[in-house]
Amino acid sequence: MLELSGLTEMRAWSRAQKARGARIGFVPTMGYLHEGHLRLVDRAKARADGVVVSIFVNPLQFGPSEDFAAYPRDLARDRTLARERGVDCLFTPETKAMYPADPVTRVAPGGMGDVLEGAIRPGHFAGVLTVVAKLFHVVEPDVAVFGRKDFQQATLVRRMVADLDVPVEIVVAPTTRELDGLALSSRNTYLTADERRPALALSRALRAIEQAWRGGEAAAETLTRRGMEILAAPGVTPEYLALVDEALQPVPRANAKTIVVVAARVGSTRLIDNVVLGEGVGADPTVRA
Ligand code: AMP
Repeated sequence: MLELSGLTEMRAWSRAQKARGARIGFVPTMGYLHEGHLRLVDRAKARADGVVVSIFVNPLQFGPSEDFAAYPRDLARDRTLARERGVDCLFTPETKAMYPADPVTRVAPGGMGDVLEGAIRPGHFAGVLTVVAKLFHVVEPDVAVFGRKDFQQATLVRRMVADLDVPVEIVVAPTTRELDGLALSSRNTYLTADERRPALALSRALRAIEQAWRGGEAAAETLTRRGMEILAAPGVTPEYLALVDEALQPVPRANAKTIVVVAARVGSTRLIDNVVLGEGVGADPTVRA
């Protein structure tokens, strides 16, 4: 596995691969890789000849009181996991290289970036879209794979690519979960042993809503109330729970395409999760599946 940190070198590698007719797949990450990331790599490998994984903890998407400094990092471990999974090129740019100066120009997501996660993390999605746009310009992938775990992010990336005519295909892969339902996240490492059980409130709330919907209840208000009863467990501070459509708009009544999005704090850890009602939490892959 090749490892590059220079932007020019990265672009040159991609262009050389493409000149030989290879398709480039790309999985952008903030590192501290887990099986959820690696499943995205599998997807990328299935659709490309060469796969690039980037590891970059993007300061632009963290608020001043968020966990940028504390965000877990372990490049040696990431390197091993990426190599074992068949990644062709690990791209590890330095912050100074990505942002020689504070960027004046940013990709603004508009109203879709101000709801849900964006309402709680102002500026977060402008930071995400800016770094994704930059990475696309450097890696020049044919296909890029994102996780549905970050549903709003994946939706906004798709919109950015459409709005700005970026020549890349976006694939969104399902959320990989622990066997007990907890969505894998680099931030799960913050959870103490005592917080691990309360953290299940998110996926349990999603399942409860799914069950009520399958039982015939479609009113968003009733379903939200049902989910909130489960989410508001001891040790859990709910942030939001909403039923939205594919454009992130709240829906009054649920159908199979409705997405239930949830965010909560467990101790000092912020967790997010979601489910597409017609698919269900149970359809998501688990670590051992
Ligand atoms: P991150 O390193 O958290 O920025 O995530 C990098 C990519 O991995 C994003 O596209 C995430 O949506 C995706 N991802 C993170 N956790 C999961 C998961 N449990 N299942 C599927 N994709 C995930």
